Amino acid sequence: MTASGEVMRQTIASARRIVVKVGSSSLTSRAGGLDRERVAALAAVLAARHASTEVVLVSSGAIAAGLAPLGLPRRPADLASAQAAASVGQGLLMSAYHDSFAHFDITVGQVLLTADDIARRAHYRNARQALLRLLALRVIPIINENDAVATAEITVGDNDRLAALVTHLVEAQALIMLSDVDALYDSDPTRGGRRVPVVTEPSRLSGLQIGGSGSAGVGRGGMRTKVAAAAIAGAAGIPVLLAGSGDAAAALDGQDVGTVFCPPVANRVRRSPRTLWLEHASDPVGRLWCDDGAVEALQHRGASLLPAGVVRVEGRFLAGDAVDVCTTAGVPIARGLVGFDSGEIPPMLGRSMQQVAEQRGAAGLRVLIHRDDLVLLGEPPTLGV
Ligand code: GLU
Repeated sequence: MTASGEVMRQTIASARRIVVKVGSSSLTSRAGGLDRERVAALAAVLAARHASTEVVLVSSGAIAAGLAPLGLPRRPADLASAQAAASVGQGLLMSAYHDSFAHFDITVGQVLLTADDIARRAHYRNARQALLRLLALRVIPIINENDAVATAEITVGDNDRLAALVTHLVEAQALIMLSDVDALYDSDPTRGGRRVPVVTEPSRLSGLQIGGSGSAGVGRGGMRTKVAAAAIAGAAGIPVLLAGSGDAAAALDGQDVGTVFCPPVANRVRRSPRTLWLEHASDPVGRLWCDDGAVEALQHRGASLLPAGVVRVEGRFLAGDAVDVCTTAGVPIARGLVGFDSGEIPPMLGRSMQQVAEQRGAAGLRVLIHRDDLVLLGEPPTLGV
């Protein structure tokens, strides 16, 4: 194993606040339905770590657990049935966790999040506050997406991404993703592919075969969503370990199992939850198209966005919403919280701050996007197919 992989495993082993994500297929039996023994085994591992660490669990399995009680043979394709299964299964899942953790005198708390809770800044702060209080009370929060009310258009999408966003939300120091896939492989493991013990930079992933879908067909994720989640956590400088759920104890202990994703060196500085939220979790609702001078000022001089540099406004939004800033070619380069409603901006375009102030009085003395409310968008990670 490389030195950086070893260092990251030690970081994971000694982290004081961790997020552990477990997939549906690690909690269900082959015959279908929730496997209480597997839930109990996971709880035992997490209970041991809880003695020294704040643990947040992101658990899938609601839909899978709801299938058998509803007589459904497989994960339903239609949204309403999936919602019904989640509604039935989430209760069963929590009851299994509750009983399993009770053996260790550990209290658990259910937190169901929707995409809105992540994408809206005020909701995000609320969710963060609730989670931090649960941790302060020595409770293990157990998070899932609120599938019973999530609609196809408004979902976080998969729990791998949700777990990475939760890692930002609670400022955890490590993310451990447990699933029925025990590691990333350099090619098909059934044909001699070898385990990749460490990924030192996301760019190293190009050339690897990354499967798309979940293996057991009960969850939503797959290797691709895990790699994407590792990139989101990596943006905050957080190492991610992907391991088989059977290796959970060894994984938490820093042993050489699974695949560890080292955060890019440039990101190993602490970033505020606010900028991480803007970059990865907010939902931009409009775009401001800028001239070359403004792009240069944002990218190289850490400037705020002024009306003089904006040539076009797209979308309908309110002051405080997240919008993308793009070049005249439409390439997004930054995201920020805009200071004005979309309807107020057109008369200001191309004008200096002084002209805007003359137009609007004191209300015009704001910049379009303040530098503190702005984050430059990085290169997306390269993924091999
Ligand atoms: N939230 C879903 C569930 O509990 C799982 C989503 C996923 O597999 O990523 O069933």
